[in-house]
Parts: sequence; structure tokens; C-alpha cells
Amino acid sequence: MGLFTAEIAVWSKGYVWQEVDGRRCLEPRGPFADGSFRRYDPFAESPLAFDELAQLGRGVDERDDSEERVADFANRRGLLWGQGQPHRPGLSTFDNWSAEAKLLAGAVRLWESDDGDKANQLSQLLARRPGLALTHAVDMKPDGSLVVGLHVAELVQVLWAQFTLWAAGHVQARRCRQCHRLFEIRPGMRSDRLYCSRRCNNAAYERRQLDATGIKSETDVGKSPRGK
Ligand SMILES: [Zn+2]
Repeated sequence: MGLFTAEIAVWSKGYVWQEVDGRRCLEPRGPFADGSFRRYDPFAESPLAFDELAQLGRGVDERDDSEERVADFANRRGLLWGQGQPHRPGLSTFDNWSAEAKLLAGAVRLWESDDGDKANQLSQLLARRPGLALTHAVDMKPDGSLVVGLHVAELVQVLWAQFTLWAAGHVQARRCRQCHRLFEIRPGMRSDRLYCSRRCNNAAYERRQLDATGIKSETDVGKSPRGK
């Protein structure tokens, strides 16, 4: 257990868009009798999950597949709100998802920008986020010694805490030159690595080859992190 800890429940049967009180909401695919939750700690398992939602925030609303992409995120990472049991329908509206993803995208973009006014803009943006609700967590290691940490209950708060941990330099990460996703620099990895994966490395190599011959690449899977 790190200093921060969470236990996020992801419905094993996935989430689907449904009408709840006339609004599009992401709800667990029923029935509840024949499903279960996968539980994981995003701080340990995916400390850069915040960037996945930020990436989504860059195109949300303008893209036809926005709902699908939000559902895909939820199926992997869980719902942003309402982690408490039982499930409360109607919390995960598309508008809420969209707004949160855009704010996170804005925060990441500001942090990485050269904007001279970014300190001011970032603090204004962060002031619009609700405060973190932390509880204490105590765990026992296999050797019997105790560890204490701070528990964050909801995924939306986890993601903002992850953003701060990353911006404060507690997570070593770099943005892939090919797909523009953040990837973690773990111990044993070259710190000057430019690509997140062999796939991106190969795609970038191929693109350079094609650029050299003046043919436009069709293998460029990258989407600009700064929009159009
Ligand atoms: Zn990549």
C-alpha cells in the first residue's frame, strides 16, 4: 500500500447507456443477480488513469463515438461517482462525464503548456474541483508490520489526486511521441525512452521512413494531445 490507496469496484458485466429520468446515464448492465465486481487500487495498478480520462476529454461532444469511449473507460476503470453500495442510478450522466473529462484535459494541457499565466489558470481550474475526502487506512504486511495510508473513496477524486501526484513529480512519466499517451518510467527502464510500446516505436519508425519518401503515413495512430 502506498501513501494513497483506493478500492474501486468495476461491474464485471460492464456498463451501458440508459435513460434515467430523461437523461443519458451510464448504468451497470443487469441483472445484478448474475454479476460481480472486480476491485482494484488505481493508485497501484494504473497511476496514469487520469490521463486516459483527459485524453477522452479532448474530443468528447464533437465525436459520434463519445458515449462508446466513455463506456469503454468505465468498463476498464469503473464509474467516476457513486462507488458506495448499493448502486445509485442516475449519477453518471453523459454531461457529468463530459464536464469532468474536459476539466481534467484542461488541467493536463495547462500543466504541460508554456503559458505564462498557467499558474493562475490552473489554480482557478483546480478550485472548481471538490476537496478530497480522505479516510485513514491501516493494513498489515505479510511480516506482521503495520502500514497506514490515506484512503480515497471515489474514482473521480482518485483521478484528480493522481493528476496532482504526477504534476508534483511523484510518478515518473513521459508522453509517447507517437500515440501521445502518458507512460510510466519504471525502475530499470531507460529514462530517455520516447515511445510507450514496441508498437508505437515501430509505427514511428515506419512514419519516418514514409516521411522520407514523401508519402503520407496511414499508420499514424497518434491523435494530437492539444486538439486541432
Ligand atoms: Zn505510444
